[in-house]
Amino acid sequence: STKESTLKPDEFTVANNYANFLNHITKLRNPHEVEFLQAVREVVNSLVPVLAHHPQYMKSCILERLVEPEKIISFRVSWVDDEGDVQINRGYRVQFNSALGPYKGGLRFHTTVNESIIKFLGFEQTFKNSLTGQPIGGGKGGSDFDPKGKTDLEIMRFCQSFMTELYNHIGPDTDVPAGDIGVNAREIGYMFGQYKKLRGAFEAGVLTGKGLEYGGSLARTEATGYGLVYFVREMLQDKGIGFEDKTVIVSGSGNVSIYAMEKAAEFGAKVVACSDSNGCIYDENGIDLNTVKELKESGDERISEYITKYPNAQYLDDCSNIWSIPCDIALPCATQNEIDEATAKTLVDNGVQAVGEGANMPSTQEAINLFLDNDIHFAPAKAANAGGVAVSSLEMAQNGSKLMWTFEEVDEKLKDIMKNIYQNSMQAASDYGSPGNLVAGANIAGFIKIADAMSAQGII
Ligand code: GLU
Repeated sequence: STKESTLKPDEFTVANNYANFLNHITKLRNPHEVEFLQAVREVVNSLVPVLAHHPQYMKSCILERLVEPEKIISFRVSWVDDEGDVQINRGYRVQFNSALGPYKGGLRFHTTVNESIIKFLGFEQTFKNSLTGQPIGGGKGGSDFDPKGKTDLEIMRFCQSFMTELYNHIGPDTDVPAGDIGVNAREIGYMFGQYKKLRGAFEAGVLTGKGLEYGGSLARTEATGYGLVYFVREMLQDKGIGFEDKTVIVSGSGNVSIYAMEKAAEFGAKVVACSDSNGCIYDENGIDLNTVKELKESGDERISEYITKYPNAQYLDDCSNIWSIPCDIALPCATQNEIDEATAKTLVDNGVQAVGEGANMPSTQEAINLFLDNDIHFAPAKAANAGGVAVSSLEMAQNGSKLMWTFEEVDEKLKDIMKNIYQNSMQAASDYGSPGNLVAGANIAGFIKIADAMSAQGII
């Protein structure tokens, strides 16, 4: 019998009222932060059965504390462009929760970055990091700086100025940033150099996603994409399905999408479409991954050039068109809310069997509900894309012990971690009355560990 079936109706009602109250006050406190409120609401609603069974979490206001970031740092970033003009951006670091370890999470450089976006990402990160089983708390940061079209020197000056403001708030045992959209090994390198100079010490574990020459981990670049495919494979295996001969679509043009495509193809899938922020390419016989990789890694996005080499492929203007192409497995790896209810309906009508979220919160709540109502195998972001940060934690472990593991060692650990996340999420889902629902399971499994650690550490 599940824990849910032993629940008394009044216990459930009390927990449900508490969840509604919590959503309400979070909205009063953050009225305009739509992304943050969206992320909080999903988690709070799925925790109702947990709260009903463990009223001590309500009594000690664990969840009320958990939806309030421990610290928000917001700062001006001034820098000089190649024309000699002064440019001003805003930088953020949200140190969300440190119950399980130092704050950990990426930095995003993108024009859409604001406090709501960083808070939603930091909140998601906290649960994701808990799910990895690694000793890492949750955080996120970034800037509204637009890296597109900037020269290498402009990127360097921006990164240095950003780090001049940030360095005093981070460290190998306090807060360990990494990359996210717009931040890759190059940006991490410039930020690491500036941190090292300001600190006067080589503290390798202060950032992850570093170059291999100075403390980076093998397989970190591949980890999020590979981990996503390992997770989806685990989920499908349970239903007797595999990647073999499945038609797969992967949106996005960063590391996550490139290595998700690579691993899916390695497992025998046919990847027929991919995108960048301008548009997408479609080749019903399967796209050539090496060409895509070259185009996507060439810096500014220009996947459209693919059709000059492969005239049989099609280029569709507007990246959202990618989801109108029929597929068996959809892997959204671009950005938040790229799949809304109408898009989800198109995917379902076209016969999609599984959706694995490589980006953070790529599906709206309505889209998720539609997938679950139609029994689509749905792998939520917090669980499915945790491979990146999991290997970041392995990078910290290597830095701390001054060792360097082989690619195979890291990849094996990544596989184990993704398998454990899948199993723990499935177990939590069935324990609390939603068997098979990985959205509920991931939120519950992630929450319980943080809640117990917060309880143990007192009211701080
Ligand atoms: N930005 C990635 C994420 O969303 C990775 C964070 C990290 O490695 O710290 O999980």
